[in-house]
Amino acid sequence: MALTQADIDTLAKATIPAQKLLIDGTWREGRGGETEVLSPINGRILTTLSAASAADVAEATAAARRAFEDGRWSRMAPAGRKAVLHRLADLIDRHATELAVLGVRDNGTEISMALKAEPGSAAGTFRYYAEAIDKVYGEIAPTALNVLALIHREPVGVVAAIVPWNFPLMIGAWKIAPALATGNSVVLKPAETASLSLLRLAELALEAGVPPGVFNVVTGPGRVTGEALALSHDVDVMVFTGSGATGRRLLQYSAQSNLKRCYLELGGKSPNVVFADAPDLSAAAKAAANAIFRNAGQVCVAGSRLLVQASVHDQFVAELAAATRKLTPGNPLHLDTQVGAVNSLTQLEGNLGFVADATREGGEIVTGGTRALEETGGYYMDPTIVTGVRPEHRLYREEVFGPVLAVTPFEDEAEALRLANASDFGLAAGVWTASLSRAHRMIRGIRSGVVHVNTYGGSDITVPLSGMKQSGNGADKSLHALEKYTELKTAWIQL
Ligand code: NAD
Repeated sequence: MALTQADIDTLAKATIPAQKLLIDGTWREGRGGETEVLSPINGRILTTLSAASAADVAEATAAARRAFEDGRWSRMAPAGRKAVLHRLADLIDRHATELAVLGVRDNGTEISMALKAEPGSAAGTFRYYAEAIDKVYGEIAPTALNVLALIHREPVGVVAAIVPWNFPLMIGAWKIAPALATGNSVVLKPAETASLSLLRLAELALEAGVPPGVFNVVTGPGRVTGEALALSHDVDVMVFTGSGATGRRLLQYSAQSNLKRCYLELGGKSPNVVFADAPDLSAAAKAAANAIFRNAGQVCVAGSRLLVQASVHDQFVAELAAATRKLTPGNPLHLDTQVGAVNSLTQLEGNLGFVADATREGGEIVTGGTRALEETGGYYMDPTIVTGVRPEHRLYREEVFGPVLAVTPFEDEAEALRLANASDFGLAAGVWTASLSRAHRMIRGIRSGVVHVNTYGGSDITVPLSGMKQSGNGADKSLHALEKYTELKTAWIQL
């Protein structure tokens, strides 16, 4: 049966109980006090989160270590782990609408996008790694014939996953699914403003048969709970998605503690490059608006720097502005809303600060630039286009992670490439051109993990997401992700 607005409204009225930590298969209160969870939709209190103290985190990592060492999961046959992860994927599907609505209530993503990107994608991710794990083989090295050298991969041990608030279930699943599939134990630390759907996922994991202690969740402030987790000597690998500032701290914590491996998926300032010979400039203009404004710009791969060839700049910006004005922010729980809420007041104020700096530095606001729907008490912002942005401007260099697009003209291909690479980030890019040769030159030239051609933002679980430069290291998604959660092991056998 098709999902109706009434179904969503009913779920959205449910009272959310005070949330607890999951440690060693038991739900319990943290000793770090409680923090309020505010709704980005209306600014009201939704519920409370329990904050895990350093002592709680130590218990969670110790439980994960015990579970790993006794082999209740790590030494289960891959086919056994596969069956449990399939059950979890089925449970996510069965509770998909409930999970999506719960996630939107604390993170503010428009529900039309959350339904696809959150439970839909998470279930697919668990299935993908459940299926992968009994199909990946080891190797025999081509040594001299009097030796047999076997090479295989084994789980690392305890994985700590720290995740952000923009797509908690999708990004959480990108880490939890391959970590569990390969036999590790996991301690997850969700973001303070997007923990609810991941806590519900943890309930479903227990129901699916993930043994106690194998998957633990500790909520709380980054500087307390996250820091204790990152400093733990019981954690072997840290997988992180979030800001560069936190990524830097994690590397320091690793150096101060046990040199745990750190994989960082960080921010972006991705160039979307439009040449005058693009096959369909009107389609490119609509796509450029969607590339930055969906989920109120809170997308790591958002096309936040638009580079447009000067000969079509004014016409293109006019079409872009027309497409953008149709993307009005609204209640993210309404099925027809295309731009939801900004996640928090802090984030909203940061976005407006970027706009103020951009105009001070000489940029011109074409549309937007202001807070929207303030009377609701929620955190909304009009999609904002700023033209005349130059490489030395703050809006060109720093990630906003909000609905603010910087537009810069270029004369020719050489300048386009120079401008595209004039960034500390290297996560994603887009190129619009009818020339196959130019598209290939740009793909080779742009230093980013992905380059989209004549589209922006397409992806699925079979394709890695990885950053270059200060956008991070290692890959989420695809079979490449398995490398992060396993160690190479060789057996050298004298025959
Ligand atoms: P953030 O770095 O503020 O927080 C991310 C997580 O780190 C949260 O769980 C937070 O509690 C925790 N944290 C904060 N300080 C910590 C500390 N000192 N020690 C340990 N943990 C700590 O990032 P955010 O604002 O939640 O997320 C937005 C950022 O994430 C943006 O930069 C965005 O581009 C990036 N992002 C990247 C990708 C990607 O795949 N590359 C995907 C989504 C988001």
